[in-house]
Amino acid sequence: MDNKVASAKEKYKWLSDERYQTVLKATRTIAFEYNPATKEQVVSPFISEYLAGSYDGRMLSDVMIQDDVIHPEDLQLSLEFREKVAAGGAGEMVLRLRTPEGPFRWFKMCLCPFTDDGELFFVGTITDVDKELRHREALRYRAEYDMTTGIYNKMTFYTSTQRWLKEEPDTFRCLIRFDIDRFKIINEMYSLLEGDRVLCRIADFLRSNTTPPETYGRLSSDIFLVCLSRSREQATRFIDDLELELNNYPIDFQFILSAGIVCIDHYNEEPINVLCDWAAMAQRTVKGNFIHHSAFYDDSLLQALNREHHITKNMKKALEKNQFIMYLQPKYDMRDRSIIGAEALVRWQHPVDGLISPGEFIPLFERNGFVLKLDEYIWEQACMTLRRWMDAGKTPIPISVNVSRIHLYDSEFCDKLQTLIKKYDLPPHLLELEITESAYTDSSSNLYDIMEKLQESGFVFSMDDFGSGYSSLNILKDIPVNLVKIDLNFLRQSRRGFEIGRDILKGAIKLIQAIDLPVIAEGVETQEQASFLMDVGCIHAQGYYYAKPMPVSDFEKLLWQQE
Ligand code: C2E
Ligand code: CA
Ligand code: CA
Repeated sequence: MDNKVASAKEKYKWLSDERYQTVLKATRTIAFEYNPATKEQVVSPFISEYLAGSYDGRMLSDVMIQDDVIHPEDLQLSLEFREKVAAGGAGEMVLRLRTPEGPFRWFKMCLCPFTDDGELFFVGTITDVDKELRHREALRYRAEYDMTTGIYNKMTFYTSTQRWLKEEPDTFRCLIRFDIDRFKIINEMYSLLEGDRVLCRIADFLRSNTTPPETYGRLSSDIFLVCLSRSREQATRFIDDLELELNNYPIDFQFILSAGIVCIDHYNEEPINVLCDWAAMAQRTVKGNFIHHSAFYDDSLLQALNREHHITKNMKKALEKNQFIMYLQPKYDMRDRSIIGAEALVRWQHPVDGLISPGEFIPLFERNGFVLKLDEYIWEQACMTLRRWMDAGKTPIPISVNVSRIHLYDSEFCDKLQTLIKKYDLPPHLLELEITESAYTDSSSNLYDIMEKLQESGFVFSMDDFGSGYSSLNILKDIPVNLVKIDLNFLRQSRRGFEIGRDILKGAIKLIQAIDLPVIAEGVETQEQASFLMDVGCIHAQGYYYAKPMPVSDFEKLLWQQE
C-alpha cells in the first residue's frame, strides 16, 4: 500500500467508522471521497456487496465504465455528469448499475465539491433507490393509465393530445369520441369480466390501428377518445372497422358504436375538454340511430344546439307568459262528417320567432324533463275547455291529450290526473290519454298497472302512432288500451308508400277490430284515403283532408255550427 493511499485512509477513516457504516448500510448507501488533483480516493468497503465490478484501486468512475457496471443506455448521461463535475459543479443523477448478482438496479448518485486547506475534494454517495423508483413508477402508471385496458386515462389523453395539437397546429385531425350502444347489457347478460374483455379488445384495436403521435384513451366506462391525423372518410372508416372487428367477438350481441367526430383543420387553442364536449354533442345525435353510427360536429349542429339553448333558456318564462297555446284538431266520423272528438296539440306562440311547431321543442323537452310541466299545462287547458263547453250547455266531446312517455316514470302521474278531473268536475273519459306505441315496448309492466288503475276510475287510453314502431299486433291483446290510432304518415314515409301499404293497412285494421278495439286513422290527406278507410271498415279519421289543427275559438265555431 503506497503512502498516498495510507494517508488518505487515515484522513478519511470516518468512512470505515462503525457508526457511519451502520447508517450507510441501513440506507443502502455507498459513500466515497476523492481528490481529483492527487487521485486520492476512499470508498465504503462494502461497495462490492452492492455493485458489480472489481474495486482494485482504479478510480471509481473508471471501474464503472471499464467493468460495464453502468447500463449501456445510461452511459452517455454518466459521461456528461462526469464532465459537469470535473468542471467543479455539484450534481446528482439517477442511473442503472449492475449488481453482483447480475441484474441492473436503479441508483442515485450525488456528488458535492468542497475545499479543505485550499485543496478541492469531492464527497459523494451512491444510494440504491430501485424499490422507491419502481414504486413511484407504479404510482405514476396508476395516475396516467387506465387500469382495465392499459391505455391512457382521460387526463393523460387530454395532456398528450393538447400537446400534439399545440406542436402541430396546422395538421388536419379528427377527434373521435365513441361508445358501445347498450354496453351495460354485456355486463348484465355475461359478466363484468366479459365487459372488461370487450374493452381490452377495443384497446388492442386502438393500439394496433394508430401510429404515434396519434393518441387514444379511455374516458370512463365504455367511452373512448381517439385523435387521428386522417381525413373525415378515414375517420368514419376507422369506426366502421372497429365495429366490424367487435362483431367477430364471440358473444351473441350486436355491437353498434356511436361516434361523434370533430374535425380540426387548424388548431385555434380551444381547450381539449371543449373539443371533447363538441364530439360528445355530435355523438348524441346518432345515439340509438341504427343507420348512421358517426356524426360530425359542424355548423348545422352548432346552429341546432344554439337553437336548443335558446329554447331551453326561454321555456319557463314562455309557460308563465302563456305563450304555449293549445290547438285542437277535429276527429271525424267519415260517414256523416260529424266531429266526434279532438286532439290537443301544443303550439308555441313566440313573440319574436312566431308560431313554433311541437316537433321542434317536444323532443328537447322530453330530454330535459320540461315536457312534464308543459303536458300538465295542456291537460289543464283541455279540462278548462271541456268545463266551459259543459257550463255553456253544450254536449261535450272528448279531447285527447298527448302523454309523453316520461310521465310513466313520474310517481304522481295518476294523482295529477285524478286531481285535475276532480278540480274541473269532469267525467274522466272526456280527457282521452294518447300514449305513443314505442312507450309501451320501452317501459316495464309497471305501466300496465298504472293504466289499469286509471281505467278503473274511468280514463281512456289510446295507442298513438300505431305502426310507427316495430311492435307486433300481438302486443295489442296484452296492453290495456281502449283505442288504436293508426298513423298514415308512417305509411307515406315508408319506402313502399301508402299505395302498397294498403293491404297491410287493411289487414291491420281487421285484426284490431277482431279484438274489439276501435280504430281511428290519423294523417288522412285525400278523399281517396278516406274512401279506402271506410271500405275496410275504419270510420273514424283525423287529418288535413278534414281539418288542420286550429285555435280553440275556430274549433268551437266549427263544432257548434254542426249542432
Ligand atoms: P302526434 O301526436 O302524432 O300528432 C299528430 C301530428 O300530425 C300533429 O303534428 C298534426 O298536426 C299532424 N297531422 C294531423 N293531420 C295530418 C295530416 O293529414 N297530414 C300530416 N302530414 N300531418 C298531420 P304536430 O301538431 O306538429 O305535432 C307533432 C307531434 O308533437 C305530435 O305527434 C306529438 O307527438 C307531439 N306533441 C304535440 N303536442 C304535444 C303535447 O302537448 N304534448 C306532448 N307530449 N307531445 C305533443
Ligand atoms: Ca297524438
Ligand atoms: Ca300520432
